[in-house]
Amino acid sequence: MTAAVPAPAARVSAAAAARAAAAAAAPARPNLFDHDRNGLRALFVQLGEQPWRADQVMKWVYHRHVTDFAQMSDIGKALQHKLAQSIDIVPPNTIFEKQASDGTHKWLLGMDGGNAIEAVFIPETSRGTLCVSSQVGCALACQFCSTGAQGFNRNLSAAEITGQVWIAARHLGNVPHHQRKLTNVVMMGMGEPLLNFDNVVTAMSVMRDDLGFGLANKRVTLSTAGLVPMIDRLGEVADVSLAVSLHAPNDELRSELMPINRKYPIQALLDACVRYTQRRPRTTITFEYTMLKGVNDQPAHARQLIKLMRKVPSKVNLIPFNSFHGTQFERSDETVIRAFQKLLLDAGVLTMVRRTRGDDIDAACGQLKGQVVDRTRRQQEFRRRLEGGAVDAA
Ligand code: SAH
Repeated sequence: MTAAVPAPAARVSAAAAARAAAAAAAPARPNLFDHDRNGLRALFVQLGEQPWRADQVMKWVYHRHVTDFAQMSDIGKALQHKLAQSIDIVPPNTIFEKQASDGTHKWLLGMDGGNAIEAVFIPETSRGTLCVSSQVGCALACQFCSTGAQGFNRNLSAAEITGQVWIAARHLGNVPHHQRKLTNVVMMGMGEPLLNFDNVVTAMSVMRDDLGFGLANKRVTLSTAGLVPMIDRLGEVADVSLAVSLHAPNDELRSELMPINRKYPIQALLDACVRYTQRRPRTTITFEYTMLKGVNDQPAHARQLIKLMRKVPSKVNLIPFNSFHGTQFERSDETVIRAFQKLLLDAGVLTMVRRTRGDDIDAACGQLKGQVVDRTRRQQEFRRRLEGGAVDAA
């Protein structure tokens, strides 16, 4: 086939397209952010280098936020050059960032294929928490979650997960062992982290590594909708805090709100939580419970919840529902939330109410929606439901 001669303006983009095509055809270079310490050491050994060189590079990247090998002054020029030819250090691309009036900071990060994900930093007096996404969208379709309504596209790579923390840490000038602004990471952004197990575990390893972000184990929290076998697997490989999205105190209601409950009902979930805590003494599980007006916020629900919480070393985090376009749910009234909390506290269940943060920039729990090119038809279904049309199951 003969290509038409391009117009001058198009010639530039044709050249760029040719370069992009060449880059795409070349074997992809590994991205440093895809590896934890062991992985990076192995990569250096493959390159014929000493593994401790990987440690040196990690310090530059994670402690000083340097991504150019040429600036790594304790590495010789020849090795700098070799590494630059062999390894990329590429964080996700920031499309925009925004700060809420309460200091909450949100990043929208561009992925391939028109997708975008979100990360949110929440400053508090004694700590700073980054809420990190694990997937582009989510397939679990929890009824009260806007990410669920967006559908699912793909898992994030380890680099895309670690990269979120790196971008926030660089923005905050965060250095391990100094007065740090970023002290905690919660895997509570878009996606179900246990459905992207390996990449999430690798990224959490960098978060907790002294050569990485240096966070204490218990300050890295994975939140799950309750994938029982994966909770057991997590218990075997990683020592992190576990949060479980419960949201209902009985199977009937939970299955309605969270379809995953049909596969892993409450008792099986609590058993997995008990096994998780048995592996590490003094650990408690945080149970998240979004307060939905007239749905799960009545005293009878509180009493059922109290009974469940007696079975596991636990604390409860009540989350006032954050609204989003098209949802049928409403936030419980403040007095109802406080009364619910009091019933739990009086029964000896440690219960906090999560303060809503960053809602003026849509950065609160369940409001993260990035931009998902949906592969699950979930968005389509959601829109149809919104319009009140019949849902076509085909
Ligand atoms: N998939 C994981 C993590 C993502 S959601 C999980 O289910 O745990 C993080 C937390 O925010 C979960 O507890 C989730 O149920 C809650 N959440 C989701 N939508 C919400 C909303 N609209 N308002 C308040 N909390 C919400």
